[in-house]
Amino acid sequence: NPVQRRKPDWLRVKAPVSKEYNETRQLMRSLNLNTVCEEAACPNIGECWKQKHATVMILGSVCTRACAFCNVATGMPDKLDPHEPDHVAEAAGKLGLEHIVITSVDRDDLPDGGAAHFARVIRRLREEAPNTTIEILTPDFLRKEGALEVVVEARPDVFNHNLETVPRLYPTVRPGARYFHSLRLLDRVKELDPSIFTKSGIMVGLGESNEEVAQVMDDLRSADVDFMTIGQYLQPTPKHAAIERFVTPDEFSSFQKKAYNKGFLMVASSPLTRSSYHADADFAKMRAA
Ligand code: SF4
Ligand code: SF4
Repeated sequence: NPVQRRKPDWLRVKAPVSKEYNETRQLMRSLNLNTVCEEAACPNIGECWKQKHATVMILGSVCTRACAFCNVATGMPDKLDPHEPDHVAEAAGKLGLEHIVITSVDRDDLPDGGAAHFARVIRRLREEAPNTTIEILTPDFLRKEGALEVVVEARPDVFNHNLETVPRLYPTVRPGARYFHSLRLLDRVKELDPSIFTKSGIMVGLGESNEEVAQVMDDLRSADVDFMTIGQYLQPTPKHAAIERFVTPDEFSSFQKKAYNKGFLMVASSPLTRSSYHADADFAKMRAA
């Protein structure tokens, strides 16, 4: 049974205890902000929060989708918090971030999927933290005509939208989404504003083959995507999709080599890679590349 397999040593991480971790947590609570670090039960939280790298999750803590890998609650979402853009900007200043990553739940219930709220967050950040570079990790805005344009117009530095898995596994892993819609979204960002870096990622260990991973790399390059992330899927609870394999660190290195050969500016590929893991340092390197 794949579920009961013991975690390999390379996935064992230190417990999250540090003064800075507590300060980060305290700040998020006081500003009423959600983080994907906590909601997704991210294994890197100890390391990231020690450096005050928290990834804010806007648009509430309840999602309208139910992806099979994701720990975020599904249901009727919360009302939008009109103060959230101010609070995100305040948090960026207080955490002293050079680079901030903002993600969100999916809001199929909102006419614009939350696009205007995303744009407001970006604008408030520009006002309050002009030296902080901004990376957004967005939903797919499926059937939300004009939403993408609203977000792109606010000009984030990095536009990230994850494909999450290979197309064959979409019906079971990402049932509310469409692979080619997500790919087209990334392509559109570059068409609308070529100065924005685009980024996308997948998890491995959900049942995909290495050939399928290579196909996703080709698809992303055909959409002119700059930065690809590849990380090990970890099952948040027994109710979530099972882990089909643990990809070894060597295999992650060979994915990375292969992706660089296909022309990405930046590739992060390791067992603990997540979209927002080391996003600040990788952005700096990508900008310099
Ligand atoms: Fe948060 Fe991303 Fe770090 Fe995980 S990798 S703790 S989600 S910033
Ligand atoms: Fe989780 Fe995003 Fe899927 Fe919602 S859309 S269930 S937040 S991965």
